[in-house]
Amino acid sequence: MYYNNETIIFLNGKWIKAKEGSANLYSQTLHYGAGVFEGIRAYKTENGTAIFKEKEHYNRLHYSANKMHIKLPYSTEELIEITYQLLRENNLEDAYIRPLIYMGANMTLQPSDEVHVMICAWEWGKYLGENQLDIMTSSFQRPNPKSCFVEAKITGHYTNSILATTEAKQKGFDEALLLDMNENIAEGPGANFFFEKNGELFTSPLGNILNGVTRQTIFELAEELNIKVTEKFFKKEEVYQADGAFFTGTAAEVTPIKSLDNHSFQLNWKDTLGCKLSEAYQNLVLQPSLTNALL
Ligand code: PMP
Repeated sequence: MYYNNETIIFLNGKWIKAKEGSANLYSQTLHYGAGVFEGIRAYKTENGTAIFKEKEHYNRLHYSANKMHIKLPYSTEELIEITYQLLRENNLEDAYIRPLIYMGANMTLQPSDEVHVMICAWEWGKYLGENQLDIMTSSFQRPNPKSCFVEAKITGHYTNSILATTEAKQKGFDEALLLDMNENIAEGPGANFFFEKNGELFTSPLGNILNGVTRQTIFELAEELNIKVTEKFFKKEEVYQADGAFFTGTAAEVTPIKSLDNHSFQLNWKDTLGCKLSEAYQNLVLQPSLTNALL
């Protein structure tokens, strides 16, 4: 699904076949989760294929790398150029793009000098599917922000996400919703969370969550549409009374949520602010500026 015999990836300055790529079994990233990555989408627009918010994603990759003491050997501009080349190499128009920065052989707990850069891409539908989700409050909390840089996209953090999603699926739900260390709602395992009440939107503040590029985009779209969004701490009981809710993420885009812990939301999705914003988001990703579209 992610690659076939023809797929080309970028690996450390070279274009190689995905099936011929290999990594060191003594990699510090494989053993300890000390790597950083991004999840980016490109869309087929009227002006050609365009990567959505490419600068924001690659700036976040640099931010994450800095936090993990990883020296990234490419600038944001270079990474953007490489990514457009990757799409051309694979004839991809709509694509999910996965840059991964991983370390060489290093069994110590100190930063590695050997830094590897891999970028691959594949066609990927909406990550959480097309249906409205029934989600549950996870028994797993997001990592304590004093134990790691929770706002950075670090490979090892995703063990927490895997545990939460697996628990939710095992209990018959579609996805999990994680609390922070103070039992406020934080975010999903791979997406930010918004809920609607009385014509306004609410979402968790930064501090215990990933600073999602899609979350920021929703703020911008909401402003254009005169929708009030408030960042605040809230408990799951407040969400039980909500009119609507949704996840946001590059892979998930805007994904409707039907219920939390079997408490259904009041409105039909079509009547929610989330639905309005979902349409606005789809329009926005398909209409980037001319300068963005290089293909
Ligand atoms: N939170 C987590 C934990 C994520 O993994 C993601 C996906 N990157 C998001 C939120 C959404 O971030 P973005 O909108 O930048 O994709």
